[in-house]
Amino acid sequence: LVIATTQLQNQQIFLTDSQKHYLVKVLRLTKGNRFIAMDGKGSWWLSELAENLTEATIIESIAIKTELPISVTLIIAMPKGNGFEQIISGATELGVTSIIPVNSDRTLLHPSPQKLERWRRIAQESAEQSERQIVPTILDPLDFTTSLEQIINDNTYRYICIARGDIPHLLNSLPTEQLLENTDKITNYQPPSIVIATGPEGGWTPSEIEQAKAAEFQPVSLGKRILRAITAPIVALSLVSSALEA
Ligand code: SAM
Repeated sequence: LVIATTQLQNQQIFLTDSQKHYLVKVLRLTKGNRFIAMDGKGSWWLSELAENLTEATIIESIAIKTELPISVTLIIAMPKGNGFEQIISGATELGVTSIIPVNSDRTLLHPSPQKLERWRRIAQESAEQSERQIVPTILDPLDFTTSLEQIINDNTYRYICIARGDIPHLLNSLPTEQLLENTDKITNYQPPSIVIATGPEGGWTPSEIEQAKAAEFQPVSLGKRILRAITAPIVALSLVSSALEA
């Protein structure tokens, strides 16, 4: 269960109505039952539901680590329909750090504030179910060009997935050793991070590919078959998480 730090006082968690509903009505917990509370920023606590069912007591902090060793951002051209929800839950399960939904030359969508709220709730629920320490950030949608300017860390490895052409495979383009280097001892060291962009159903336009290259994004392939716009980010992230964790 994700809680806000304002709900926490002297080892007591004060549950909101919807959290109480979830624990008591959905999960059918009762007094004395234990569950895990997290703040979505890295802290986890084993907690016990109190007799009044509206509070819980923290029993102990839990030290678990399920995060990828470095930050991975996905820039994703928003697909029409509900496909973005599937991307958010799958990418959260696979360890994404943040997602930037973008409009591209071939897609123009203006998701409502309610939709954005729903996307963030899906990220939170998926983070809970896959025992993440953090809830991935879902940024407000940007234009693709603007999203390229958001990448300000110099030590970021940038990739743009392109469905056609004789280009290197993402798996052969990840400098796994550099990405996993233990650099704790170097002062002012900026840890590496990865950004991967995947396009809309109609693909990126040549102009977008040129802009991405100018922003130091390397064109990469995800294999010989053309993947759907909702499959490509999941495949890209599966490759990255496997390369970082295997
Ligand atoms: N007709 C489009 C084209 O030719 O580019 C196909 C676009 S594909 C349905 C949607 C997005 O998924 C692409 O823009 C790309 O980012 C990604 N993608 C799909 N298959 C891919 C592959 N085999 N390699 C790299 N990227 C791929």
